[in-house]
Order: sequence, then structure tokens, then C-alpha cells
Amino acid sequence: MKNFPSAAAVSRREFLGRISAATALLTLAQPAVGQSSTLRKLGVALCGLGNYARGQLGPALKLTQNCELRGVVTGSPEKGGAWAEEYGFPAKNIYHYDTMARLAENFDIDIVYVVTPNALHAQHVIAAARAKKHVICEKPMAVSVVECDAMLAACRVNNVKLSIGYRLQFEPHYDELKRLAREFDWGVFTRMSGGFSFVMKEPQWRAERKLAGGGPLMDLGIYPVQAACMAAGGAAPVAVMASELPKQRPEFFRDVEEGIKWTMEFAGGARGDFATSYNDVLNKFRAEAAKGWIELNPAYSYTGVQAVTHAGPLIIVVPPSQQAVQTDDFARCVRDDQPTRVPGEMGRRDMMIIEAIYASAAQGGKRVEVAV
Ligand code: NAD
Repeated sequence: MKNFPSAAAVSRREFLGRISAATALLTLAQPAVGQSSTLRKLGVALCGLGNYARGQLGPALKLTQNCELRGVVTGSPEKGGAWAEEYGFPAKNIYHYDTMARLAENFDIDIVYVVTPNALHAQHVIAAARAKKHVICEKPMAVSVVECDAMLAACRVNNVKLSIGYRLQFEPHYDELKRLAREFDWGVFTRMSGGFSFVMKEPQWRAERKLAGGGPLMDLGIYPVQAACMAAGGAAPVAVMASELPKQRPEFFRDVEEGIKWTMEFAGGARGDFATSYNDVLNKFRAEAAKGWIELNPAYSYTGVQAVTHAGPLIIVVPPSQQAVQTDDFARCVRDDQPTRVPGEMGRRDMMIIEAIYASAAQGGKRVEVAV
């Protein structure tokens, strides 16, 4: 690990003061989750009622001030009925995946939030856009750049906004990372590292190419890809190099990678080395500049993101729900006709990076340029 002088250009007190001021501003800039508002709340329909919808997005939509849950799209009428009862919306607002076109007649619903397996995102986003609904699509945006292009075109033609469910773009530690990358307090971040992994115990769609589009890179590796682009000031890498990790459970991961490591090269010489796996435990991101460093660990969790720098721990107040801030922000963008900070184009950029990483791994680690 690289050592930095403990008394870097910025003293600890000055540094913490800057952080507190930045945090106060960030906190003010966030929608005040839970506050009442006199403006009309927009209606959200969740499309896909699995673990993430049930455990995170539904509860988040009880905290939002700019929008609320008013409908669902599900393959199970019983599940839909239970959600309607819990969230107090009428049975007419329960749709099947095959009846999404009828959303066009329902003025309770302004936004469809697509939370189905990755390979279904494109068809569900396109169906929602054709019904003239604004859309949030979970990560990864799709399973190919070609699909991303079709989704972007459908949203453009139907004049609706598209955002990606990158909740960490609304997490205050990441706001601070982005600020450091923009204002160069310690210089440019030139060295990045980390990864995101968990041990997959039960068989599920995430290990099936036809539904997931790939393995942990699609599901988890996309987080360090995002973090690296943030630390690079919002830039995409110019090239990547990658190699698949040996499979410990080949019978479990028949048609997707079990793990992969990759390098991202940025213009100007910054470089990041990352790994992701379904057979390890890792949740870290580190960015180093000439005069300081920041490490997030855990880096990608729903709650409890922690940051340490060369000058000590960062104390940053976080809102109760990343997903509530993210969804509220999109509803505000729709209501005020403002651009979202997490547009579909960002999801497409990340899909280009992911495709380049897979292409490099398939060619024995060859350097592959990213043509974003
Ligand atoms: P899940 O398996 O728990 O839920 C998927 C839902 O899709 C289920 O309700 C299932 O019934 C439905 N579905 C519809 N058609 C299906 C089909 N043909 N096959 C299988 N399921 C079908 O998955 P999840 O964990 O809720 O993930 C859903 C999406 O949300 C994924 O794209 C995932 O990457 C994303 N996600 C994002 C985060 C985040 O932090 N942003 C966290 C978890 C999941």
C-alpha cells in the first residue's frame, strides 16, 4: 500500500472542516425524505416484485415526498393484490407483463420502475415507454449495448425520461468522492482499486446467461466500474484488460463467469484494478492521488457505507434510504422537466465498458479500447 505524508497539503482540521461544510451542503441539496409537500406526488408502478422491490424499493416509496407507489406489474395476481392492500392502491392498477400497453390509459401512474432480471429490462422499459411512462431501470441497464440503444430510442421517440437505478450516485460518500475528483484537493486520482463479491449459495437466475446476460460482472462488478468513473471525474476508461478467474464450482456457473478481474485505463494515465466474484467476500473501493487517498469499505451496501482517508475517517450524515433519495430525485426531474444525473446514456456507457471487459477476457487479456 502506498504511503502518503500524514501532514498532507491540507491539514486534518482544515480537511475535516471542508468535509463538514461539503456534507452540510450535500445534506441540504438532498430532497428531505419524509417531509410533506404541497406539490402533486407522482405515481410509481414497480415492474417485478422480487427481493429488491420487496426489501428496498417498496419501503423506500413510503419515505418519498415527490412520488408514491400506485401500481405494480407482476406475473402473480395474488402478489399484486397483497401489494395493493399494503400500499393502498386500487386493483385496477395491478398489471401483468403482457398488459403493460394498458398503462397508457392509467393517469395514476407517471413512472414505471423496472426491477426484473437483467435480460428482461429492455422489453419492460420499451413497453413502459410506449405506454408514455417515464422509466427507472435497474442496473445493469440491459445485457448488451444493442439493447441499450433500443431502450434509449424508445424513450426518445415517446418523449419520456429514462434513468438507471444507480443508488450510489445519490449516496453522500460518493458525492464527496465526485467532489474530490472535480476539485482536485489532493491532485488527480491516478490509482484505483477494489471490487465487489459475495458467495452465491443457492441456484438463481443470476447464474443463468439467458436471464442475467453474464455473471458477477453484470451484477456486482458494475459498482466498482461506476465508482472508478466517478473518481475519474465522470470519464469512461479509454481501454480495459481482463481475465476470468478459475472456476471453483463449474457445475454452478456453467454459462457465466464465476469471477473476473480487470484493469481500467483512463486518459491521462489513471489506472484501476478490480475484481468481482460469486465465490468471495469483497466490498471495497480505493482511490489514490499524489497528496491523499480515500477508501470506502463497505463501499456498495444499502446502508453503512464507510470512508477513511489519509487524514482519518470521514464522518458524513447519510439519509435513511438511498433508494428513496434516488427515486425522489427522478420524480422531481420528471415533474420539473429537468435532466436526471443518472440518465440511460450512463447505463449504456457502463454496458460498453462491460462488453469491452468481456471481450478482453475472451481474447486472453488483450487490451481492448472502449469506444464510448
Ligand atoms: P428477484 O429474482 O428477487 O426478482 C425478480 C422479479 O422478476 C421476480 O418478482 C420475478 O417473479 C420477476 N420475473 C418476471 N419474469 C421473470 C422471468 N422470466 N424469470 C425470472 N423472474 C422473472 O431479483 P432482484 O434481486 O429483485 O433483482 C431484480 C433486478 O434488480 C436485477 O436487475 C438486479 O440487478 C436489480 N437489483 C438492483 C439492486 C441495487 O442495489 N440497485 C439490488 C438488487 C437487485
